[in-house]
This record gives sequence, structure tokens and C-alpha cells, in this order.
Amino acid sequence: MIDTHMHLSMKEFDDDRSKILERFEQDGIECAVEVGYDIVSSMKAVKLAESNSRVYAAVGVHPHDAGKVQGDWLSFLKEMCKDSKVVAIGEIGLDYHRDLSPQIVQKDVFEKQLNLAQSLKIPVIFHVRDAYEDMKEFTRNYEVRGVIHSFNGNKKDAEDFIDMGFYIGVGGIATYKKSSDLRRIISQLPFDRILTETDSPYLSPQPVRGKRNEPKHVTLVLELLSQLFNMPLKKAEELTVKNALRFFDVENSYAKKI
Ligand SMILES: [Zn+2]
Repeated sequence: MIDTHMHLSMKEFDDDRSKILERFEQDGIECAVEVGYDIVSSMKAVKLAESNSRVYAAVGVHPHDAGKVQGDWLSFLKEMCKDSKVVAIGEIGLDYHRDLSPQIVQKDVFEKQLNLAQSLKIPVIFHVRDAYEDMKEFTRNYEVRGVIHSFNGNKKDAEDFIDMGFYIGVGGIATYKKSSDLRRIISQLPFDRILTETDSPYLSPQPVRGKRNEPKHVTLVLELLSQLFNMPLKKAEELTVKNALRFFDVENSYAKKI
């Protein structure tokens, strides 16, 4: 199985990060993507990926952190993409739910990173909250491969994103009791557009909700998918691994081409 979205560099894992990584093989985690949200966490993601053969990295500035970028941050990100373990720009996007950075700044930082992703032909991990319409408007002008991390929209959003060629990230939220609408929407998605993720240490799925999330809990997401699609667990695992490998296309990464 593949966890396409984790934050193992966060302080929540300071005590047992190396143990968790050592257990990847026995936990059945083929690989996982450590996702940055600002320049420092992106650098940490690259470092973590360099230190472990099963870990890849995404580098980017999250909308919450958009207001804090300084100096030549964009060329810095571009430099990081030259590392052979960097497989995506992310997580980037728009978040009008918490509005931790002014919307005009979020848009500017988002646009710059979209341009970068397009020019480097590197996939994008989108963080979008309460801003699906603006995000659609924005990305229409770009040719990028992207995944909507922790998708939590309506049927129309899902259809639009699929039409736009995007993948849909399914994680803990889909397992919550109140998420029956979301589960119905997910069950109607083309299976080859689904990526499994945890967002560790956040969004722990049922029945471990409320506790710190870990990459191994991606198995609970797979159990949900296997139920929703009436498909053996093994099959759901096999297909979602294929989806992730196709999406990140590591063999053709930017670093391999330069
Ligand atoms: Zn995240």
C-alpha cells in the first residue's frame, strides 16, 4: 500500500519517527510521500526521502503559510525539485476556511507554484478548503497533473475534478460517521483516479479517530474502498498502488530529465 500524503517530519513523530520508518516493510507500506507545507518542512521532506528508500518528497508552500514566504523562495523550491526523490509540488492551493493568509496572497503564491509545476512537468498535491470554485477557475488555465488531497466536496466538484484530469485523495475523513455523502460520491468515482493517503499526524480514520495518525493506517482507508467498491482488499491495494505509481511517475521525474 502507498500513503501519498504524510507529515512524518512534524514534531509529533520526534520520539518514534525512525521506528515507524523501520516498520514500513512489515506494515506493508511500499512507499510514502512526505509532504512539505513551507520551505523548512519541504527541506525536511527532501532530507527524509534521501534517508529512506521507501520515502519520496513533495515540496511546496501551503496556503496557510503563503503569507510568510520570503526572498527568493520560488527558486529555492525549484532547486529542491532537482533532487531525484522529489515527486511533486505540494501541498499548495487555497484555504478560505481558516484564511490564515490573505486570499490575495494565497492566490499569488498558488499561481507561482502552479507555473513552476507546469514548467517542470511535475505533479501537484492540492490542498483546497472552502475554495473549490476558485481553485477550478485557477487551474483551468494550466496543464498540470494533480491530486485533490483529502477531497471533501460535493458530487459536482468530484465530476469537475475528474473531467479536469485530476486524481482524488481519499483518507480519514471518508471513514467518519458523518461522511455518508462523501462515501457515496467516492463510490462513484473511476477507481483509477483514487489515491490513498493519511495526512499523518492528522485526520486519523475510524476507529483510531482522535489519536495521532500514522502511515500504516492507510490500511483502514483501503478497507473502506474495498467495501465501497465491493472489491477484495488485496485488489483495492494493488490498484491504488498502481494509481499512485502512475500519478507520480517516478521514472520520468523532473530530476531524471535534467
Ligand atoms: Zn497535509
